[in-house]
Amino acid sequence: MAQLQRIAIAPNQFQQGQISLTTEQQHYLGRVLRLRAGDRFIAMDGKGKWWLAQLEGEQAQVLEILTVETELFVSITLMVALPKGNGFDEIVRCCTELGVTCITPVLSDRTLLHPSHQKLERWRRIATEAAEQSERAFVPKILEPVAFSAALTDSVATHRYICEARGDYPHLNNVIQYDSSEIVIATGPEGGWTQTEIDSAIASGFQPVSLGRRILRAVTAPVVALTLVSAGCEV
Ligand code: SAH
Repeated sequence: MAQLQRIAIAPNQFQQGQISLTTEQQHYLGRVLRLRAGDRFIAMDGKGKWWLAQLEGEQAQVLEILTVETELFVSITLMVALPKGNGFDEIVRCCTELGVTCITPVLSDRTLLHPSHQKLERWRRIATEAAEQSERAFVPKILEPVAFSAALTDSVATHRYICEARGDYPHLNNVIQYDSSEIVIATGPEGGWTQTEIDSAIASGFQPVSLGRRILRAVTAPVVALTLVSAGCEV
């Protein structure tokens, strides 16, 4: 099955064993991937379901329901302060590959970027493409950007960590616990978190943690955090 191309469809495109393809998907399958009638591909709904499908013009016939077991067994939400430029694209792509469940873009005190709605659409597209390529069963949710204070109060998971580059904090690897179904990890912008942000995160129940002795870039830190989590819960 590995060689078959994968495309994400909306759950309502699947009905009674058939997938009705959008014009864009027909173009992608026919013109970009050069599939012809009768050729097979994998359709995924981004919510846990995969189907082996056969192209038939504007529709595809579902041949088989496939089992995918590529998800982490804990749900990981990353709260990421928006970095400069297009840095967030890279974070979305890499963290999707690594198994993130949800990413909340956060506007922090030192965030320079206030993204447009087109950015959000773009990040969601990147997450879908990365999930297709990584053979994920789920496409991670990319939420609307929120102020850091709102992100703190919205989050209710019992295991919450805030990564801080300076200070004598324990390493994430030494404190993280996988006995919960949901873990939240926050990483800051290029200029770092302000002391007020760290204090209010702690007051909201976040544990400050280190990712090692070197200062990582804002784009590298979430990728490192997620790598540690996936290594920790898959071995
Ligand atoms: N300019 C800041 C560093 C910001 S790094 C300074 O000099 O202090 C961007 C973000 O990545 C930080 O806010 C933190 O969340 C995370 N980060 C980078 N390196 C880290 C480390 N060694 N441990 C924990 N978090 C780190």
